[in-house]
Amino acid sequence: MSEDTIFGKIARGELPATMVYEDEHCLAFRDLYPAAPMHILLIPRKPIPRLCDSEPEDQALLGHLMLTASKIAAQEGLGDAYRLVVNNGEGAGQSVFHLHLHIIGGRSLSWPPG
Ligand code: AMP
Repeated sequence: MSEDTIFGKIARGELPATMVYEDEHCLAFRDLYPAAPMHILLIPRKPIPRLCDSEPEDQALLGHLMLTASKIAAQEGLGDAYRLVVNNGEGAGQSVFHLHLHIIGGRSLSWPPG
């Protein structure tokens, strides 16, 4: 029931967050426990729990999220140096089961991630 996650509550305005972007399909806010100087979470309004739960009908929405992430990175002055991360499932580090893209930047990023 991803409607009941903290991100669902933020999307419905029931929990506070520092918003950086909103449109009819998605919203973005600052991560409460940033892993880098710039750490933003971009979520669809539609409560998809994990990326692997998305359906063919979500194709346009998923594309919109990618384009919006790029727009937010530019808006936040990250230039071309940023990373998008989707943790899919508990084993990959997902802790909030409402699909989200991490937009991370503002420091040098190493590879591979842990
Ligand atoms: P994940 O581990 O991929 O599910 O990412 C969840 C992210 O949500 C983590 O980076 C947390 O720091 C962040 N987080 C948890 N609670 C909040 C909150 N209330 N507002 C903003 N970010 C949060």
